[in-house]
Amino acid sequence: HARRVEGVDKNIWVEFTQLAADYKVVNLGQGFPDFSPPKYIQDAFCKAVSSGCPMYQYTRGFGHPPLVKILAKFFSRIVGREIDPFDDILVTVGAYQALYCTFQALVDEGDEVIIVEPFFDCYQPMVKMAGGKAVYVPLRPRAEGGKTVSSGDWTLSAEELSSKITPHTKAVVINTPNNPLGKVYKTEELQMIADLCIKHDMVCITDEVYEWLTYDGAKHVKIASLPGMWERTITIGSAGKTFSATGLKVGWAIGSGRVMKHLKIIHQNSVYHTATAAQEAVAHGFQKEYEHFGTPESYFQQLPEQLHHKRNKLASCLESVGLQPIMPEGGYFMIADTSSVKVDFNDPSTKDEPHDFRFVKWLIKEKGLATIPVSAFYSPEHRKDFENYIRFCFVKEDSTLSAAEDILRTWS
Ligand code: PMP
Ligand code: GLN
Repeated sequence: HARRVEGVDKNIWVEFTQLAADYKVVNLGQGFPDFSPPKYIQDAFCKAVSSGCPMYQYTRGFGHPPLVKILAKFFSRIVGREIDPFDDILVTVGAYQALYCTFQALVDEGDEVIIVEPFFDCYQPMVKMAGGKAVYVPLRPRAEGGKTVSSGDWTLSAEELSSKITPHTKAVVINTPNNPLGKVYKTEELQMIADLCIKHDMVCITDEVYEWLTYDGAKHVKIASLPGMWERTITIGSAGKTFSATGLKVGWAIGSGRVMKHLKIIHQNSVYHTATAAQEAVAHGFQKEYEHFGTPESYFQQLPEQLHHKRNKLASCLESVGLQPIMPEGGYFMIADTSSVKVDFNDPSTKDEPHDFRFVKWLIKEKGLATIPVSAFYSPEHRKDFENYIRFCFVKEDSTLSAAEDILRTWS
């Protein structure tokens, strides 16, 4: 085998998705909706697959023309500049492949990439496979005294971020709204990161797959829209998260054509392109959303409204059973502190594992409820400090959330 497969063999999704499938569970683990996408996406996909030849053949490799055109039109309005559909956008197999192309195209051996913790787990192996070195800087909960109750209490220190920058630093990776914490970065925080990117000539890789999901007035801001940042930012999105259709596996990277041309080289020499019919359906979805933008008919308004209610339902249940949640300002995950729940894990097979891994396995095997251990979203250096948290996914039918509540309320 090649050396690049060494040290990146463990994957929480492979492990915990299998466990959740092996046991009969109520599944609040892996992040996917257990309800259908909006009807217009289903109709568009059905129409595409029943319309014959062209939808079954290759399309333009860097993105189906109707999709890149509407993505450019849609996001130009949001970023506040003209995005070129053919130069500035690459359509990929989910946000995963957009991330992969980004790291492969921009990171060389010996380069350092700063990752803000907690982070979506794939950033680290992807940096490593590109030959780079991941350097971590944590979001920290507000200092002593007050309980942290909201993801907004977790902040990034400018001093700490600066202290990690070296002449080898190539890029900073952020994720807003964040998975698993739910933090939505404020403009001032993004400006601080932007200032450092400009000062030290770094690229910003921003994973915004949950961009439409914010609550209680939190506003998602695109760092690419801040002065001087368009030229040095790659913004990553996902139709799976945008339209509650994770199986479509359509994602994109958006940035200046000057940088995007490098990502395209990785794409053309590996995957080459994404399923045509899925891209066609997503193009229709964005066309609809373009027309309904900012109105109650927009799915980008309806989905967060539904999720807001689900978030509150889950939070009050967790609180009532002593699993103190950190209220997310965005995204569709919530982390909760398990330290007040004392469990006698009677499972020798997990005895060398971190506490949260043992807790989650116990919950799956003994109680029939699947969640995800939060230490998996931390570097080996900082993992130890977050072993008491587990992550719940709330993009679920109310009946699923109620079934989870029944388990939680009767477990002791
Ligand atoms: N980034 C984050 C933060 C995620 O949570 C996920 C999981 N959906 C991805 C990227 C990958 O997205 P996709 O399913 O579109 O590949
Ligand atoms: N992004 C989803 C999550 O965080 C799923 C990731 C995956 O299955 N690889 O749960």
